[in-house]
Amino acid sequence: MEEWQQLLVTGINHASQLPGEWLVAREGVDQGDVEEVFPIRINSYYKSLISDPDGPIGRQVIPDPEEVMDFDSPADPLGEEEDSPVPAIVHRYPDRVLFLVTNQCPIYCRYCTRKRMIGTPEGVVPRKEVERGIAYLREHAEVRDVVLSGGDPLMLKDNYLDYILTELRAIPHLEILRIGSRVPSSLPQRVTPELCAILKKHHPLFMNLHFNHPDEITPEASKACNLLADAGIPLGCQTVLMKGVNDQTEILKRLFQKLLTIRVKPYYLYQADLTRGANHFRTPVATGLRIMRELQGFTSGMAIPHFVIDAPGGGGKVPVLPDDYLVSMEDGDVVLKNYEGRVYTYPDVAGEDVRGVGQAETPPGSGVCPNGGSGDSRGER
Ligand SMILES: *Cc1c(COP(=O)(O)O)cnc(C)c1O
Ligand code: SF4
Repeated sequence: MEEWQQLLVTGINHASQLPGEWLVAREGVDQGDVEEVFPIRINSYYKSLISDPDGPIGRQVIPDPEEVMDFDSPADPLGEEEDSPVPAIVHRYPDRVLFLVTNQCPIYCRYCTRKRMIGTPEGVVPRKEVERGIAYLREHAEVRDVVLSGGDPLMLKDNYLDYILTELRAIPHLEILRIGSRVPSSLPQRVTPELCAILKKHHPLFMNLHFNHPDEITPEASKACNLLADAGIPLGCQTVLMKGVNDQTEILKRLFQKLLTIRVKPYYLYQADLTRGANHFRTPVATGLRIMRELQGFTSGMAIPHFVIDAPGGGGKVPVLPDDYLVSMEDGDVVLKNYEGRVYTYPDVAGEDVRGVGQAETPPGSGVCPNGGSGDSRGER
């Protein structure tokens, strides 16, 4: 057994294995009740990062009775099942798809937007479904970008992952492949030289990692990221904004800055979804906007991700920005407010009708992030 497999086996896989000081019950509900709905996995490595069960690392993985107390939210908040032409594929955007190749993860995050399927017997992705997914991609020439996700694709055995990537690479219209993975932040021992040798064969391959707190950037995680970067894989990070975990500017600034030092570029900061069993992590959208404002200009642009809300019901990711950078756009003058709150005027060039910029009528696919007047991103879907 490899080291990473050992760390999974020796970790916490049942509520009965939780240390006494991590036990909580509320209104007669305990973590054993939670486990019946949402599986538990805290591998030994990630467990070793937890000093306080109520701290930012503990909260991400220790089951909370709150999870089974919110019945009002949808199990599939992003409407992924409606956009699923075959079981393992979510095809929502014109040129790229999600390919869910497994429902296993190195840890089971309590805030997961796919907790309806993660680690459950019903959520398993059989090889037949993976093959159907590959066949779908072969037939859909409009797809040029495939995001392998799940679950965590790096939980697959080396040779199975190699098989999937090889099949995808043989499809001429697939220009880039991507892997979304929590492994480097929560089970970095899985990133072995053998794995990197496999990944390297399938370039251009990108990876988006998932770090939520600077305490996840350990020497082990740094080593894993360096191995991946040395294999030529551009690394991004998708972070979820969560109450009691990382909803402070200083924490996120430190996270994003430290990510750059391990060659990971912050990509998305997600507003937490409306997921059943995960609502206790949600923060007001205004918190995310304020944090973005407190980052922009105060640290490297490289360290700043896009803040996005994945629109409930399948609207996709919508970028949102604080609404006052663009003060006005009138009579040939673009009035801007910088990060210090100072106002500047940029004399514009004529030739484009500015009426409608930032309005709901912005045509789909215009590619413009309308950070204008009204200041939101209505229209961009
Ligand atoms: C996030 C996501 C993608 C990838 O989106 P990018 O903005 O290109 O990273 C593709 N399909 C679905 C359904 C998604 O949720
Ligand atoms: S690793 Fe990702 S998919 Fe798996 S439980 Fe965590 S958030 Fe969900």
